[in-house]
Amino acid sequence: MKIGFIGLGIMGKPMAKNLLKAGHEIVCFDLNKASVEEVVAAGAAAGTSAADVAAQVPLVITMLPNSPHVKTVVMGEKGVLEGAKAGLKLVDMSSIAPLASQEIEKACAEKGVKMLDAPVSGGEPKAIDGTLAIMVGGDKELFEELKDILLVMGASAVHCGPIGAGNTTKLANQIIVALNIAAVSEAFTLVKKAGVDPHLVFDAIKGGLAGSTVMNAKAPMMMDSSFKPGFKIDLHIKDLANAMDTGHGVGSPLPLTASVREMMETLHADGFGGEDHSALARYYEKVSGT
Ligand code: NAD
Repeated sequence: MKIGFIGLGIMGKPMAKNLLKAGHEIVCFDLNKASVEEVVAAGAAAGTSAADVAAQVPLVITMLPNSPHVKTVVMGEKGVLEGAKAGLKLVDMSSIAPLASQEIEKACAEKGVKMLDAPVSGGEPKAIDGTLAIMVGGDKELFEELKDILLVMGASAVHCGPIGAGNTTKLANQIIVALNIAAVSEAFTLVKKAGVDPHLVFDAIKGGLAGSTVMNAKAPMMMDSSFKPGFKIDLHIKDLANAMDTGHGVGSPLPLTASVREMMETLHADGFGGEDHSALARYYEKVSGT
């Protein structure tokens, strides 16, 4: 299939390349010219705007930072809806606010464009391997129709409910990951302060109940103080802010999420927002003097 791909960052680039490898044609667009050139070198064509991409394809995939970016790319000037023919399908794989997905889907429906929200989990390594976990909201029939394309990028794709349900699921994912990173940072700072080697602690506990995908991926980064993203602190702050807005909207308090968001905000203020979210360990280093 000829697919438009807009948003070629840490995640979008390998996802677009996997679609190319699977035999799909890609027309891509990003504000960052170097990213576009890299995907063109892998076999894609380049569009001149989101509207130009949408005019050339029956399916557009977006992978952008947050709600305002997706709204601009879809509903803004030279956006997807400006170029779209009736019947275009849009799969937004960015992690954005569920209410924004609903608003964008409404604007799409008015132009005869069908939309799914389909955020992902797994980070850059799983984007490269094509083994992301994909959580989908929107029309079930549209999901069934596009499932095989999603499974080029993911190991699983689960339909979670109506439009926005994919992003609500992603907020749950992001709360669990953030709190798990905070728990690992807190525990590893304790052992360091108490004079026990964190590497030995990691080896001792990773096979037990405390072992987790998050600890396996992030504890080595913390122990090496190596925080190249990965998933940026600033993007995680965005997700936790979206979670808290959603929580306030539905009456579900999120006290632990609020605490970890504050820790991440202090790191952003200290200039670490572009580092991997495992840099949360820096917060504990600062407050414990390690
Ligand atoms: P990124 O910042 O690396 O990439 C975003 C891309 O969007 C950039 O290349 C940027 O130039 C482009 N962009 C922004 N505004 C644009 C516009 N108006 N028109 C065209 N291009 C535009 O971000 P990422 O890490 O690839 O994350 C993308 C989404 O995936 C985010 O919602 C993030 O929360 C989510 N996500 C990221 C990870 C991860 O580990 N990095 C994992 C799961 C989900």
